[in-house]
Amino acid sequence: MGIVIRGDGIAACCCGQLLGSAGFAVMREETGRTPVPALMLSRRTQRLMCDVFDKADLFDGFARVEARIVQWEKSSSPVRIPHSAVVISEDELLGRLNFSAGHQRSSDYQPSWTVFASRPLPSPIAEHRFGSRVATVLPADLADDLESAACWIESLSNGWLFLLPAPSRKGWLLAVGAAHDTLLSASRLVARQIRSLGPPAGQFPACPVIADPFCGLFDQTRWLACGSAALAFDPLCGDGTGNALREAILASAVIRAAFRGEPEAELLDHYRTRLLYAFRRHLQLCNDFYTSARQGPWWDAELELIARGLEYCERESRKASPFRYRLQGFELHGV
Ligand SMILES: Cc1cc2nc3c(=O)[nH]c(=O)nc-3n(C[C@H](O)[C@H](O)[C@H](O)COP(=O)(O)OP(=O)(O)OC[C@H]3O[C@@H](n4cnc5c(N)ncnc54)[C@H](O)[C@@H]3O)c2cc1C
Repeated sequence: MGIVIRGDGIAACCCGQLLGSAGFAVMREETGRTPVPALMLSRRTQRLMCDVFDKADLFDGFARVEARIVQWEKSSSPVRIPHSAVVISEDELLGRLNFSAGHQRSSDYQPSWTVFASRPLPSPIAEHRFGSRVATVLPADLADDLESAACWIESLSNGWLFLLPAPSRKGWLLAVGAAHDTLLSASRLVARQIRSLGPPAGQFPACPVIADPFCGLFDQTRWLACGSAALAFDPLCGDGTGNALREAILASAVIRAAFRGEPEAELLDHYRTRLLYAFRRHLQLCNDFYTSARQGPWWDAELELIARGLEYCERESRKASPFRYRLQGFELHGV
């Protein structure tokens, strides 16, 4: 009944919670990656997280975002869209979740299942990347007259900007595509909200990526990847954490169903198809957003790669079998 969870983020934490509370012996391996400085979590994701961790007050006291101010289509005026989210750093979130996920793994421990919940994945697993964009993250001091409960999104000819508020007139700028100063010099919306910027805190890939395969047999151990180790999402869609959580719920349900005696091959087929469909939905969303912001060769090149991703999903989904399971609560049942 031993399970190793390799990872540092919300997917690892969620698997640790759901498998640990079901009575499995969970060992943890850390990867030691840099934590994400700020995450905006929608109300839907907050609710799901409160359910998984059985803590109704998980998000009490965090900074709230009540509107998105968006200048997306070329030459459009900013639009104010009501929103309901909190802003929280990954460290704070995992601290509130009291993330420990069992004991550290000893070198001779042979688990029944391994969950890869953060990169890197073991070779020879491939990764298909459907975009070339990279995000630079910078701490920002915000303008005095800025509306503090809003986030700001703007498309430009060579990329896009996202400004997320944090308490005390601080915030985080995400610059995707060209260098942040190139994007800011052309900005009509986001640049006005910033008083000064600190040095870049990091660079992250910001395009859709799918691992191939993301579950199977490896060294006699059954394994699954979940969270951004399996599917990485463009941060534009704003729900990477919610997706990581849903994948972790399904991964944990697959493992529990396998221990109940359900056939592993069928369970893994189900997992593969559900994640593939989620990835296809994400690419379709990216395609819609990038088409409406399209203003030159940078956007065309990214759209071309998104189209390749959709073709990949089309090819892979032809191999999928019909669903034989349905998730009810946190358990998989046959349909
Ligand atoms: C700058 C940035 C801003 C984001 N903002 C939001 C947001 O506002 N709301 C939201 O829901 N999601 C956001 N995300 C995505 C969110 O962080 C992930 O979807 C979520 O944390 C996945 O959890 P996980 O357990 O799968 O994490 P992991 O797989 O452990 O990874 C967590 C994040 O770190 C990045 N990462 C992993 N390894 C490395 C590495 N070696 N070098 C650099 N980066 C690495 C991943 O791309 C992922 O985004 C953001 C991601 C980044 C990078």
